[in-house]
Amino acid sequence: MKKPYVYVTRKIPAALLAPYKDDFTFNYWEREETSVPREELTKQIKKADALICMVGDAIDKSILEEANQLKIIANLAVGYDNIDLEAAKSKDIVVTNTPDVLTETTADLGFALLLATARRLMEANDYIRQGKWKEWSPYLLAGADVHQKTIGIVGMGRIGRALARRAQGFGMKIMYHNRSRNLVAESELGTTYASFSDLLKTADFVVSVVPLSSETENMFDSQAFQLMKKDALFINISRGGVVNEEALLQALQNGDIQAAGLDVFKEEPISKDHPLLQLPNVVALPHIGSASMETRTSMWNLSLENVAAVLRGSAPKTPVSQ
Ligand code: NAP
Repeated sequence: MKKPYVYVTRKIPAALLAPYKDDFTFNYWEREETSVPREELTKQIKKADALICMVGDAIDKSILEEANQLKIIANLAVGYDNIDLEAAKSKDIVVTNTPDVLTETTADLGFALLLATARRLMEANDYIRQGKWKEWSPYLLAGADVHQKTIGIVGMGRIGRALARRAQGFGMKIMYHNRSRNLVAESELGTTYASFSDLLKTADFVVSVVPLSSETENMFDSQAFQLMKKDALFINISRGGVVNEEALLQALQNGDIQAAGLDVFKEEPISKDHPLLQLPNVVALPHIGSASMETRTSMWNLSLENVAAVLRGSAPKTPVSQ
C-alpha cells in the first residue's frame, strides 16, 4: 500500500523523521534561506496527506481549495493566524499547533527583550563597537530600571503567566488584561486584572502576548499609545498584526512613549529601510521568540506526533479548536 505523503515547508532534521520513515513518505522544501514559493506549495498541497507548515506560510482558502486528500495541517507555532481555519474545517482538515513546548523559551526571550530595551543594550553594544567609548560619564546610556516597576501583560495565557513568573523575580507589580479574568494567575502570581485602558495608563512596561485575531488586530493603535505613560516601554512578542505600526512610529517619534522592543512585525521579514528600524529607541528581533535549539526540536516532535496520530486515525495531541 502507498505510504501517506507528508510535506514540510522547511528543512527538518533527518534524525527526527527516523521513527516515522517506515509508515510515511516525507518531502520538504530544502532551501533554508527562502520559504517555499506559492506555486510549489500549491503543487504539494494537491498530493499531500499531511502538511507541516509555519509562520510565513499563508494557508488560505484558495490554496486549501487545491487540497485533494489533506487530513492535517500541523503548524510549527502556537499562533495559527496564518491558517484559514474555516476553510480547513469545511474540508474536514484537522489543524494543530505547538502550545506549551515553547512557552518558557518565548517568555525568556520576552523578558530578555524587555531588559534589553529598558537598559538600552543594543545602543550600548553599537556604541562600544563603533569606538565611541572615550570615557565614563554618569548618564552615559542610562536607561530605565526594571525591578519594582509595573508590568502590564496583555494576554495572560500560557506565555503571559511564564512572563509574570519572571517579573515576580524582579519584584515587579504585575497587571494583566484578558477578555476574561484568570483567577488562577491572580491567586498564584499575585497579578491584578485591569481593563485594557487602565493597564495602558498604569504600566511602565506594556507587553503584548495576545494571539492575532479579528478582535486583536491593530489593538495597539494611536489611542492606545496616547494612553500609555510617556516613559512607558512597549514590548511585542505576539504578532505584528496587533500593532498599528504607523501609530507606534509616531508615538516613538513624538515621545508619547519611551521605547519599544519588537520581535514581530506586520510584514516579515521587515525591510531594513523601515522607519521603525531607523529609531535608536527600538530594539528589533527577527521573530525569534521560540528559537532555542531545544524548543525547536520539541516543536518539530510535537508536530510529527500530531501528523502521525491523524494519519493513523487517532486524535492529535494539540488540536486547534475550529
Ligand atoms: P494562550 O495561552 O492562548 O494565551 C493567549 C491569551 O490572550 C489568553 O489569556 C487570552 O485570554 C488572551 N486573549 C485572547 N484574545 C484576547 C483579546 N481579544 N483581548 C484580550 N486578551 C485576549 O496563548 P500563548 O501560548 O500564551 O501564546 C500567545 C501568542 O503568543 C500566540 O498566539 C502567538 O501569536 C504568540 N507567540 C509568539 C512567539 C514569537 O516567536 N514571538 C512565540 C510563541 C507565541 P482570554 O481568552 O480570556 O481573552
